[in-house]
Amino acid sequence: MRPYILAEANWKHIHDQPIDLAILPWGATEAHNYHLPYATDVIEADAIAAESARLAWEQGAKVMVLPTIPFGVNTGQTDILLDINLYPSTQKAILNDIIEVLNRQGIRKLLILNSHGGNDFKTMLRELGVRYPDMFLTTCSWFQTLDKTTYFEEPKGDHADEMETSLLLHLRPHLVLPLDEAGDGAAKKWKVQGLREGWAWAERKWSKVTADTGIGNPKAATAERGKRYFEDVTQKLSGLLVELANLDVNDLYE
Ligand SMILES: [Zn+2]
Repeated sequence: MRPYILAEANWKHIHDQPIDLAILPWGATEAHNYHLPYATDVIEADAIAAESARLAWEQGAKVMVLPTIPFGVNTGQTDILLDINLYPSTQKAILNDIIEVLNRQGIRKLLILNSHGGNDFKTMLRELGVRYPDMFLTTCSWFQTLDKTTYFEEPKGDHADEMETSLLLHLRPHLVLPLDEAGDGAAKKWKVQGLREGWAWAERKWSKVTADTGIGNPKAATAERGKRYFEDVTQKLSGLLVELANLDVNDLYE
C-alpha cells in the first residue's frame, strides 16, 4: 500500500495523515494510431503521477495522488470510434466538485497533472480560483516539462508518436502492437499560415489531418528511450511537487 496513492490507501492510515498537496491526474480515452491502447494517456498519467509522488514523498512532501480522470476533451475527434468526449464545461463541473471537497477539508493546494493535449485547465482555474479564494490551484502538462529533441529522433509529433510509443513500451509493453503494424503518423498541415506556424489557433479536425489517428512517426520508439524520458520527467515533476507541498501560500513571490 502506497500511502500517497488514494486508490490504494485506507481510511485507517490516512484519516490523521497531513496532506499538503492533492494531485489530480487527468487523461483521455482515445485512439492512438493503430498500435497503442485507448488508455495510453491514462496509463501515462497514472505512472508519471505515482512515480513523481513517490520521489516527492521520499523527500518528506505530504502529497496525495487522486484517481486519474479517464476522459478528456475530444471535441475534434467526434467521428473516431469510441473517443470519449467530455466537454470543457463538464470538466469544470467535475473540477468544481473535487475542489469543493478539498477546500472544505482543508487541503488547500491542488495540482492537475494533465496527460492529454486537448485538455486545457487554465481558464477553469482562473474562474474556480475566484470561487475558492483559499485554494492554491495549479496545472502542469507532463509532456511539456522536457525538451523532447534530446530524447527522440522524431520529436515533432504530438499524438501516439515516438515519445508516447517509447513510454508505453517501457510501461506496458504487452499492450503495444509490433511497430510494423503502426501507421506512420503522417499529418497534414494547415493551409493558413498563422495556424501552420502555431501563433493562431483553431481546433484540428482529427480525421482530416491523419489517416491512422497518430501525429508523429512512432517507428524509432524503444523501451530504453521511454525509460530514460520517464525517469527524467518524473524527477523534474517531483521537484515541483516538493516545492508546491512546502509552499507558504501567503508568501508566493520573491
Ligand atoms: Zn496520448
